[in-house]
Amino acid sequence: MTVHDPIQSMRDVQHFGEEGGVVPVIDLAATSTFLNPEDMEKAFHGEIDGCYLYSRHSNPSVSAFGQKLAALEGMEAALGVSSGMAAISCAIQQAMPTGGHIISSRTVYGGTYALFQNLLPRSGIESSFVEIEDLAAVERAITPATRVIFTETMSNPLLRVSDLRGLSALCKRRGLKLIVDNTFTPVLVTPGKLGADIVVYSCTKYISGASDLIAGAIVGSQEFINSLVDINHGVVMLTGPVMDPRVAHELYLRLDHLPVRMAAHSHAAQYLAEKMRAADIPAIYPGLPIHEHHALLSAQMNPGYGYGGMTAVDCGSVKRAMKLAARLQQEKFGLYAVSLGFSRTLMSCPSVSTSSEIPEAEQKKMNLSPGLLRLSIGFVGNDETLAQRFLKCYREVS
Ligand SMILES: *Cc1c(COP(=O)(O)O)cnc(C)c1O
Repeated sequence: MTVHDPIQSMRDVQHFGEEGGVVPVIDLAATSTFLNPEDMEKAFHGEIDGCYLYSRHSNPSVSAFGQKLAALEGMEAALGVSSGMAAISCAIQQAMPTGGHIISSRTVYGGTYALFQNLLPRSGIESSFVEIEDLAAVERAITPATRVIFTETMSNPLLRVSDLRGLSALCKRRGLKLIVDNTFTPVLVTPGKLGADIVVYSCTKYISGASDLIAGAIVGSQEFINSLVDINHGVVMLTGPVMDPRVAHELYLRLDHLPVRMAAHSHAAQYLAEKMRAADIPAIYPGLPIHEHHALLSAQMNPGYGYGGMTAVDCGSVKRAMKLAARLQQEKFGLYAVSLGFSRTLMSCPSVSTSSEIPEAEQKKMNLSPGLLRLSIGFVGNDETLAQRFLKCYREVS
């Protein structure tokens, strides 16, 4: 048996431009002609494969991106959609056609929490939020209505890691689907290889890498991806959050350097986290052996890409976190902005921004300190200069 090498599989996907160009053309057509009118009827009934009908259903540029992403994930198929939230909401609703119950990690992205807590109950989907690291607690939360376990490979913003093999074994035993949001750790971790049934991405983050677009993707079996665009029952087809072919083309090209970028983010974050620790600053980074989930992540990751670009530092209070962020921005260490995965460092204070949808009591339960400053470490610049700027500003505000 050959081992799935995500990078090689992705590299082996090639699409050529019309005149043999080394990149595919962008196919912008909203609709496609049928030379034989009878074929259109067949296409609507799913009786002929490989023809394009209408761009909300399928588009060559979006398909090319999907093929390349699926190869990277070692899964059968992928579908680009308009945002990470579209990926999550469509994947969940397609996987739970008759409603039911989700067991979700307590530490999910704020938007995901709000979707599960406030919106999905309208569609007959209820959620329980549990300590996803405690497999016994996860199992105890299963009810006869449970259909899905949802988690993030690495959680926002505390950078805790899910035991995907353990969760997958539990799902297989209890007949549930495991859906994993791998937004923080593309390339580093391949959830499909560890047993995830469906993988979702906010491509807005690392997959884009340039903070210049909003996009998402759903990866899974061919059958599941086809079901999303089914003309009668497909959630993407019928609610419509499709990926623009221009965006698909951009992301298709950017996938080539995603592995290089991830390694560079990891390298810069590891360097900074070690400097912080050496200066007794309470840095949170999974690449540090003292991080509680260092070994768990090591056991699940593809070697050679490091531990990712996300770090966090507890500043004790919101006020101090903001003061530090303001100084760091003045010193050109990074930019105070939400989001992550940009080539430059982005900083935000999750308790009052990206996790603010999560009520304070829940934030306490997940040990989210109000003074936590999250850093998405960029790879542009000199590691030593940036570390010195951080240490200087940190000293000033303490
Ligand atoms: C940003 C983010 C999302 C939402 O993605 P959008 O592209 O902004 O819709 C979902 N999950 C995680 C982990 C994220 O960081």
